[in-house]
Amino acid sequence: MKEKLLLHVCCGPCAVGSIPAVDDMDVVLYFANSNIDTNDEFEKRFDAANAVSSYYKKEIIKEEYNHGDWLDSIKGLENEPEKGSRCLKCFRFSFELAAKKAKEEGIKYFTSTLTISPHKNSNVIINIGKEVGAEYGVEYYEHDFAKNNGYNNSVKLSKELGLYRQKYCGCEYSIWWKK
Ligand code: SF4
Repeated sequence: MKEKLLLHVCCGPCAVGSIPAVDDMDVVLYFANSNIDTNDEFEKRFDAANAVSSYYKKEIIKEEYNHGDWLDSIKGLENEPEKGSRCLKCFRFSFELAAKKAKEEGIKYFTSTLTISPHKNSNVIINIGKEVGAEYGVEYYEHDFAKNNGYNNSVKLSKELGLYRQKYCGCEYSIWWKK
């Protein structure tokens, strides 16, 4: 029997490229992204992640959108640049939810699609995941989804499936990515 893995998914495109890399696990998707600036955008990204869950026939759990709590968690770091300390808090915010959910569901491992992004440092994400896992008594499954051409595969598959691909990371402070 395959070991269960709770996979935190940030959006459909990152999910579609990441899931094949953990095919040896029984994957349950977990959409928890209160960092996203508006409810409309949250729902758009959820719809894309949900389409991916149907495509791979995987269960998906949708976490409630609570941007107010997320804003509280990054207070004072609003003007930090991307990849700075706000982003570290942001990863931790989602990972704490994922670790709690894994514990609640009796799933030993959790991980995140965030490492597939070329805009993020995989080692930093993995280290935060490991720290949070240790705090909550679950294990962060160490995998760098950027490996083996992960990002390019995700772009290709997203186009094939016609998935919505956002042009900015998520929070209102990353809005400048929008061109
Ligand atoms: S830029 Fe992205 S990773 Fe950084 S705080 Fe905003 S949503 Fe989170």
